[in-house]
Amino acid sequence: MATALLIGNGTVFTLGNPGQVIEQGGVLIEGDTIAAVGPTDALRGSGAQYIDAGGRAIMPGLICAHHHLYSTFACGLASEPAADFVEVLEKLWWRLDRALDLDGVYYSALVPLGRCIRSGTTTIIDHHASPHAIAGSLSRIADAVTEAGIRASLCYEVTDRNGPEGARAGLAENAAWLARCGRGPMLHGLVGVHAGMTVGDETLAACVALAREHKTGLHIHVAESTADQERSLARHGKRVIRRLHDAGGLGPQTLAVHCVHVSDDEIELLRGTDTAVVHNPQSNMNNAVGCARVPEMMARGVRVCLGTDGMTSNMLEEARAALFVRRHVAQSPSVGFGEAARMLFENNAALASAFFGRKLGVLEPGAAADVIVTEHRPFTPATAANVYGHILFGVAAEGVRTTVCAGRVLMQDGELRTLDPGRIARAARALAPQTWERFADSAR
Ligand SMILES: [Zn+2]
Repeated sequence: MATALLIGNGTVFTLGNPGQVIEQGGVLIEGDTIAAVGPTDALRGSGAQYIDAGGRAIMPGLICAHHHLYSTFACGLASEPAADFVEVLEKLWWRLDRALDLDGVYYSALVPLGRCIRSGTTTIIDHHASPHAIAGSLSRIADAVTEAGIRASLCYEVTDRNGPEGARAGLAENAAWLARCGRGPMLHGLVGVHAGMTVGDETLAACVALAREHKTGLHIHVAESTADQERSLARHGKRVIRRLHDAGGLGPQTLAVHCVHVSDDEIELLRGTDTAVVHNPQSNMNNAVGCARVPEMMARGVRVCLGTDGMTSNMLEEARAALFVRRHVAQSPSVGFGEAARMLFENNAALASAFFGRKLGVLEPGAAADVIVTEHRPFTPATAANVYGHILFGVAAEGVRTTVCAGRVLMQDGELRTLDPGRIARAARALAPQTWERFADSAR
């Protein structure tokens, strides 16, 4: 029998449909799979290693549908004020990504991967850029991800903004990664594209062809600001999503990230092709680009997932932001809760399950053993009907104590097991000055 682990004596939030809340409950793990979920007493006696949850909530690991591990060195970085979103790209992100070398890529990944484990995020879908260190960058990120022990879908952001050589190198890096990552349960690949506004038709066609060859989808920023639509209309005579559709880039495996400025016709194209949209409310607020019409997209049958755009690795923080911005925009305190919960707990789970070929985001026999013990000891009645309230207003306030991914304990009682955060911070701190110097030089 594979190594067994019992996480018991907790309040189990199974999630899934229909979800259950099991008092004095536990989760029995064998190898990388959940063997049983139920009352702790019924699961004992297997000789399994035991983690006592001490009455705290036990729930599935969380999933981030859009991350940028490479954004790490922006912390504390002084960049010039930007007048609009395009200037945010030009003055900050497109200078920071050019400043990264392969060691910078690796440590940029390790820092937020530690935060993923701390906040219970056991699966991420990352979108990477490092134009002066393209070849091998996804392998370095994969090394960091494998060390950390979580699941990750990786891709390189192809763009024409660094000339034809840069675009070719980006395509080659995606191709190399897709050939290497295979279809395992821990690593996955998409074909990254920065955004419609930075790729010409030839490059976009090459990305679509590569995705088809590997039976995967695109991971692309779409209509994040009005500039993406304006440039698409001016250069290609059509709106962004229509252009992606006509190029064959939409489909069930493609992630259309943001979709803040989309028309009704474009929403219909997303629905008709079953393309997943990823909402990133904190980033959208930070860049002042507007708020995606999530309720309308959902009502019309579009799958809307939740990501962080690199702003955080904490999915409960992001889900709360999704809830609050919706209420703020609608000027109604009674909207948005169902959408926020559905994005994070249902749609992200379905998306990640399809990508990794394992059932994720639910505690049930046969599902992947991605399990977290939170700090939240329910102090009001917890039922299947109010469990999301306990998560967004209880767990989110108290944090995560133990994180298990694929049956491996990555953090126990607040202590990281796979990563040494002190060593990682020192190594990142040693690299940051050179990275910031290259950032500063690029403005001169
Ligand atoms: Zn992004």
